Formats: sequence, C-alpha cells, structure tokens
Amino acid sequence: MTVNTYSDKEIFARVKEIIEDILAMESDSEISPSSSMIDDLGMESIDFLDLAIRLEETFNVSVPRRDPLQRAIAAFGREKFIQEGKLTQTGARLLKLVLPEIDQSRIYEGVLESDIPPLITAQTYVNVIKRGLEIADWRPEECEKCGSKDFTPADKDKLEFPDGNVPPGPIFLCNSCGNMITAPSFDGEFYKQLSEEGITLE
Ligand SMILES: [Zn+2]
Repeated sequence: MTVNTYSDKEIFARVKEIIEDILAMESDSEISPSSSMIDDLGMESIDFLDLAIRLEETFNVSVPRRDPLQRAIAAFGREKFIQEGKLTQTGARLLKLVLPEIDQSRIYEGVLESDIPPLITAQTYVNVIKRGLEIADWRPEECEKCGSKDFTPADKDKLEFPDGNVPPGPIFLCNSCGNMITAPSFDGEFYKQLSEEGITLE
C-alpha cells in the first residue's frame, strides 16, 4: 500500500497553487497559511466548492463541503452551538478544538455566527488534507470479531454494500473470519473527537 509522505509545506504549496488558479491570481501571490479565505482572498461559496473538488482530485482524499461549525450543527443540533445568532460556550470549545491554527483569542462565547467563516484560513485546508491522508493510510489494529491481526486490503469494486453506500476510506478483509473492516470516516473521527471533549448527541 502507498504511504502518503507530503510535508505541511508541500500540502500548502499545492493548496496555494489551486487557490491562485481558482481566483485567477499570479503564482507569486502573497497567500500564506494564515490568509483568511474570505476576508483576505475574497473566496465565495462557488470557489470553496471548486477548491474542495480540486483538492480531492489532487490528494485523493475526501474534503468536507461545509465548515466544521455547520457540520457539527448538522450532527448535534443547532442550539448546542448557536443561540440568538451567537456562539455558545460549547460552540466556542468546538471551534477551538477543530481550528487550532486560528488565533484562539478570536474564538469565544458570544462571537456572531457570521464572524466564523472568515476565520477559515489556508492552513485550515492543509489540516483537512493531512487528516484525509491519515485516513487514507489507515490500517486496522485487529479484527473486532475474531482478534486476528492479518488483513488484506479489499477491492471496493468487488464488494457489495447495503443501499449502495460505499464507504469513502480504505476497506480491509480479515483473513481469518472474512469480517469487513472500514476505515473511520472524516466525520466519524470528528464526532469521536467531540465526544472525547464531552460534546455528545443528546
Ligand atoms: Zn476476523
């Protein structure tokens, strides 16, 4: 299996290149890891979609279409994170956790929801790609059914999935019992991280 060996620098260089292309900027632009995608670069919704698709093609990982706050709201319910248009204490904790590259003093209870998207930087996408590459390289520790540590990477095209929902990450088959083991999904990992922080479904 391939092991992904991109450095942060290499990932950022590709992210920068793609953003420059989308925004029709010169390649010697001053985009830095801390550039705000909205405030500094003027990215619009369609550009974010374009960026996600092109990053997926480049790195062969899945890139979420929505920002972390919107994904958490979709999974855990809105009132936990936003009340009266402002970040709750839990919402602030969530964002500090998932956006460690942001100046943490800009994230606190009471920040307007509309002030969150401008916090997303080029580095946020570098982190998303890193996480995606980790998932792509994931291997199971042991089979949860029989305890075997002997696996074969599966060819997804040859497997059948209920409802045709093909998991995005790699899949392994246990060589002892035939159990199918799927890599954690991006959001699955995200929710796990949240629940470790005490942010859980009601
Ligand atoms: Zn097994």
